[in-house]
Amino acid sequence: MAGGEHDPQATIPDYIRAAHKFCTRNQKMIADSGVCGCFYCLAQFQPIEMKKWIPYDGADTALCQLCGIDSVIGDACGLPLTPAFLAEMHAHWFAFEKP
Ligand SMILES: [Zn+2]
Repeated sequence: MAGGEHDPQATIPDYIRAAHKFCTRNQKMIADSGVCGCFYCLAQFQPIEMKKWIPYDGADTALCQLCGIDSVIGDACGLPLTPAFLAEMHAHWFAFEKP
């Protein structure tokens, strides 16, 4: 850790941090959702479309059907999976990967 130096994740709002916890071991939440979305490529899916998973003892982690990244959350987590929200998630969690 580089204490005191600029950390691009230090300014992430709490609800963005909270939402990020839902993108792992989220098999049940995805199943309970009406729609789920990837905050990497911003694709949206119906839960029945979710076919790729990282196995984890009954609490599998969903992988995006389009980009294959474990950045899929479902609306059962209580957050609105609008394109704007997914874009905001992307900006916070993946913006630092841009050149
Ligand atoms: Zn994706």
